[in-house]
Amino acid sequence: MSESVISSTAPSTPGSFGWNLEHSYSRLPAMLYEHLDPTPVKEPRMVVFNYALAQNLGLNGPALAQQPAVFAGNELPEGAKPLAQAYAGHQYGNFTGLGDGRAILLGEQVTPTGERLDVQLKGSGPTPFSRRGDGRAALGPMLREFIISEAMHALGIPTTRSLAVVTTGEKIWRQEMQPGAVLTRIAASHIRVGTFEWAAAHGDREALRALVEYTLQRHYPKRVGAETPGLALLEAAIERQAALIAQWQCVGFIHGVMNTDNMALSGETIDYGPCAFMDAFDPATVFSSIDRHGRYAYGNQPQIAQWNLARLAEALLPLLHADEKQAIAAANAAIESFKPQFESRWLSGMRAKLGLFTAEHGDNRLIETLLEWMRAQKADFTNTFHRLSAAENTLPLEDAAFAAWHAQWQERLGRQPQSAVEVQKHMQAHNPAVIPRNHKVEEALAAAAEHGDLSVMQRLLTVLGNPYDLSDSQSEYTTPSSGHAPGAYQTFCGT
Ligand code: AMP
Ligand code: MG
Repeated sequence: MSESVISSTAPSTPGSFGWNLEHSYSRLPAMLYEHLDPTPVKEPRMVVFNYALAQNLGLNGPALAQQPAVFAGNELPEGAKPLAQAYAGHQYGNFTGLGDGRAILLGEQVTPTGERLDVQLKGSGPTPFSRRGDGRAALGPMLREFIISEAMHALGIPTTRSLAVVTTGEKIWRQEMQPGAVLTRIAASHIRVGTFEWAAAHGDREALRALVEYTLQRHYPKRVGAETPGLALLEAAIERQAALIAQWQCVGFIHGVMNTDNMALSGETIDYGPCAFMDAFDPATVFSSIDRHGRYAYGNQPQIAQWNLARLAEALLPLLHADEKQAIAAANAAIESFKPQFESRWLSGMRAKLGLFTAEHGDNRLIETLLEWMRAQKADFTNTFHRLSAAENTLPLEDAAFAAWHAQWQERLGRQPQSAVEVQKHMQAHNPAVIPRNHKVEEALAAAAEHGDLSVMQRLLTVLGNPYDLSDSQSEYTTPSSGHAPGAYQTFCGT
């Protein structure tokens, strides 16, 4: 049954730019996509290009950086067969048909190490899925996605990447006129929970089955050939999401719009819209201007991930068992496993942040006590953990509650065999010194979009590329977003 639906039969040779595009997705049932070309723009200009990523992809970065027309969709790279993917999604809990309304997949780049990665243009013009949208993207939000996705990658968190941003020479309307831009996004794939919801909503069991097989082969090859492929995929997706959300929680990342169309089956973080990093620790933190009820608040992210996975389970239900009752029982058992898996990943992540190599029963309590103190003090999440791992002591030991916690922590550290040096090294590898602070991101975007000055963003990208390293030159990036009262910073979808 598992004849490969993905790998090519004839090896291709990359041309001078290094493109090595394949199109396994277009062998899936036609209800899952529409072929169409990007819409050319007036005057493509390169704004930022990711040379390191280009190299990993086997692309000739220096040559391609001189080809803004390719990253604007005005010229197609060698071997491209553009398409827009169809998908549905639960947005803020409500089901809708969606699809790539402003994005086009050029193909899958097969890298020198044999990875298969989607190359997608975002902001590349209208598609049959655009509904009332213009198919375009503004420069600010595309640069924002570039900065934050690359920061996430450097933090070691699975994520889509950003290869390039070009401006289009066209203005687009977003409450005011803004420069148009196209982002080139690189992803393990763009298969979303919503892709399965699309096939299920159309009652197309064959498409659903093909999509399951394809996703297993592409992302979970070890599970190919499982007795119940739908269940194998559900379990695999649950495992990866539990790990991913735990990583988000451990760095204070708030996605902001965890709709089911923004959850990737690859387990990568995808769709950087109103996302932001938390400064002061508070589980209720929300930045997105449209998230009025805090559905996607920091502290809700694990539950929401589970809710989204339950929508995946519903979509897969017809493949889980011929008997509906038994199908539901299998789905429920899988979904219930999310919470313990998440908790276990979270606990491991938090132990590492506190320099704990061993496991003790009281660890959860130790961590919760620190977090409760941080919430009461409105302590900065990143800096508090970073200070715990710093060589020089800048801890607020004059605070009695903190001092009591600190004594317990030191006692706990004393009950493991690792030396102080080992503990510190471990902590420094798990507590970033720098994250994309909201005001630093805004400063870089303003310099780029309003004054055409890209140097501020380049410096920010350099610092964020090395988040676990703190040198003196980086210290200005560690200040919490001051001047903004808590809750005052707002992010927008930019759509
Ligand atoms: P997002 O909020 O970016 O996850 O997008 C949700 C849906 O809206 C997706 O189907 C997008 O393709 C679509 N969309 C967002 N912005 C636009 C736009 N400017 N034009 C057309 N479709 C859009
Ligand atoms: Mg989206």
